[in-house]
Amino acid sequence: MTVLHRSEWPLKELSPSYDPWDPLQSLRQYGKHTLTSVEMTVTNLCNMRCEHCAVGDSLVMREPDMIPLPLMLKRLDEVENLKTISITGGEPTFRKKTVEETIIPLLRYARERGVRSQINSNLTLDMGRYEPMLPYLDVMHISFNYTSPDDFHEVGFANSGHPVPREAAVRMYDTMIENSRKLSDAGMFISAETMINYRTHRKLPEIHRLIREMGCKRHEVHPMYAADFAASLPVLGLDDFRAAIHDLLDHRDPELWMLFGTLPFFSCNQSKEERDLISRLRSEQNVTVRNDPDGRNRVNVNMFTGDVFVTDFAAIPAFGNIHEHKLDNIFGEWSNNHPLNQQVNCHCDAAACCGPNLLVADMYYKGTDFKSRRAIL
Ligand code: SF4
Repeated sequence: MTVLHRSEWPLKELSPSYDPWDPLQSLRQYGKHTLTSVEMTVTNLCNMRCEHCAVGDSLVMREPDMIPLPLMLKRLDEVENLKTISITGGEPTFRKKTVEETIIPLLRYARERGVRSQINSNLTLDMGRYEPMLPYLDVMHISFNYTSPDDFHEVGFANSGHPVPREAAVRMYDTMIENSRKLSDAGMFISAETMINYRTHRKLPEIHRLIREMGCKRHEVHPMYAADFAASLPVLGLDDFRAAIHDLLDHRDPELWMLFGTLPFFSCNQSKEERDLISRLRSEQNVTVRNDPDGRNRVNVNMFTGDVFVTDFAAIPAFGNIHEHKLDNIFGEWSNNHPLNQQVNCHCDAAACCGPNLLVADMYYKGTDFKSRRAIL
């Protein structure tokens, strides 16, 4: 196996002070929410069936041909202010053909245009699936919610529909850790995401320690989304979320960038404990809180149908198709006219907040009119 070493990083370094996925940046730059980010679903195949999978209901055993890549590239090219792309699945690297014929050309396109790129992967396949991305990819985003191979076995195959031998799961877990170490050593920026849920909320410091040992450059923390497979899992109360985040902040490595996203806490809430937590997150070294890109500066394109969604979670129906329309136009329709967007489309600049994620609003704030609220500072 050859591990490639990038000699130079030609673009601005991603850092706590530069996160082009955050919709607040484009909102401030253009004065309104603007399409700067396109996520593409390149497969619905996956070698795992995680308990919490947010796209679990879309996973399949076989899938049809993709839309022609030139059409996707043309639609990306037309996005006037494109700054980032994300590639997602399933496991995007499940088929070698997808890596060679879709993923690498998309990443190369992004690099040539100076657009930043991310791929979501479980990193459990052969190193050869990931190595070809080294020269082009900005962020390898993985999920990591475990303190041991047994955790991985229990969580990662919960929806397989048949028993998966422990030895097979342990092999995959070891491969993921080894891939993470080798790719990190070769210069890849790996961002490991942990979801806060009923399993992980008391184990976050230990998970964080393992993520550091794997060489990851960033630890992302999000609440579990109650979508698809996760819809039937127990939902944590807001007090448990708060306690879990304080515990993690108390025990983390302050040198490692921590990115929190889609949090269910807002500066307009009456609860002093919640606002204190927001202040703490804002003042901690190397900690950022990202506003949710979905529907704010990003859309998702299904590369089998051309349908355009607000997120890869299928809960909200498609509102356009790239066979017929430009992405900027589809986004404009969503932004200006879609009733769901109107519900959460608020913005308090002093609190660096542009409103809740739609699923978070639905889980914890049913009936709340965010547009009539203001941050309490
Ligand atoms: S932007 Fe919306 S959610 Fe955020 S503090 Fe203001 S009113 Fe609350």
